[in-house]
Amino acid sequence: MEFSGTREQAQAFAREALDLMEEKGIPATPGNFAVWFHYFSEKYPDLRHTLETMLSEDHAFTEDENDELFQKFFGIGREAAALQEASQRIEAELSKILNFMETAGEGAAAYGKVLESASGKIEAAEQPSGLKSIISNLMTATRAMQQNNEAIGNRLHTSSQEMSRLRDDLEAMRKEALTDSLTGIANRKLFDMELRRASNEAVESNETLSLLMIDIDHFKAFNDNYGHQVGDQVLKLLAATLSSIIKGQDTAARYGGEEFAVILPNTTLENACKLAEIIRKTINGKKVVNRTTNENLGQISVSIGVGEFLNNEAVGQLIARADAALYAAKSSGRNRVVSSDDHASAAGPTVKFSD
Ligand code: GH3
Ligand code: MG
Ligand code: MG
Repeated sequence: MEFSGTREQAQAFAREALDLMEEKGIPATPGNFAVWFHYFSEKYPDLRHTLETMLSEDHAFTEDENDELFQKFFGIGREAAALQEASQRIEAELSKILNFMETAGEGAAAYGKVLESASGKIEAAEQPSGLKSIISNLMTATRAMQQNNEAIGNRLHTSSQEMSRLRDDLEAMRKEALTDSLTGIANRKLFDMELRRASNEAVESNETLSLLMIDIDHFKAFNDNYGHQVGDQVLKLLAATLSSIIKGQDTAARYGGEEFAVILPNTTLENACKLAEIIRKTINGKKVVNRTTNENLGQISVSIGVGEFLNNEAVGQLIARADAALYAAKSSGRNRVVSSDDHASAAGPTVKFSD
């Protein structure tokens, strides 16, 4: 929940947050303050969007809702609670297994003693009847040992089933933590991880790597015209379109709000631009139709900035270059693809003094 702006900005956001909270009757608790401070800081597009929608619907902010907002955006939340529960279950199963092992060890030691004493008695036995009773004792001990082993085997089996259930739960949690809940594609966290991984691999294998930054054009107006729920559906359709166009090793992610990103390993800038053009055309070539009313909501378009990874640069620099190209695509008219190369050459004439 860090803030990297200036002191003056922080003070302005704090004042605006407190005023709004007072106006809406929201108690100025630390949690509520964090939520509304960042509404004004616009650092978290999802938070901003959620609150914008609630404000536009003139929502009453009840205590429960305030709590929920804080938990959703800043709390340790469900994920951490679920992880804690899973780790407690793992600990309980492990301690059960250790107990079985101890019991099994004790049983084996006792059986060893029975065998040892039987072997002494066999040597000393003079009558066959004496041998018979030794053998019968041995058989009883062996049977008990067998039963003991079977019981331990059963308990271990149950434990291993519980452990494999836990492993599946943990895997599902891991996936959920890396997936954008609205669109079902990679979220920002997975994007960051994947871009770092792909850049390391590009350095190691001396391969190319490109990045697309995609932003929907005039999406605020679209939301204003048709409502946020329809807007959300468009975000889902866009994500599905991206997923259907990209191939195996590529990653499409929701970067935030109405911005998407595509990581393209082993792809040159030129080929990345071609793919970006396919994406742009595909999206612009579709009509958005309201399924319930059949109303034609027109078309949407996207602007795309393309950048290529330079060996050994920080991934932040690649993102910044693709972002600058996206910005150039927006300012030169939208619904277009701009490569960071074009953008650099289109950045205006360079001048020098000459005699
Ligand atoms: P531009 O062409 O310059 O990108 O214009 P824009 O209106 O798309 O850009 P701006 O950054 O002004 O607004 C982005 C809008 O995206 C604001 C918000 O209504 C919308 N938006 C962001 N996240 C979501 C979301 O999760 N769902 C919906 N429905 N809309 C969202
Ligand atoms: Mg945007
Ligand atoms: Mg936009």
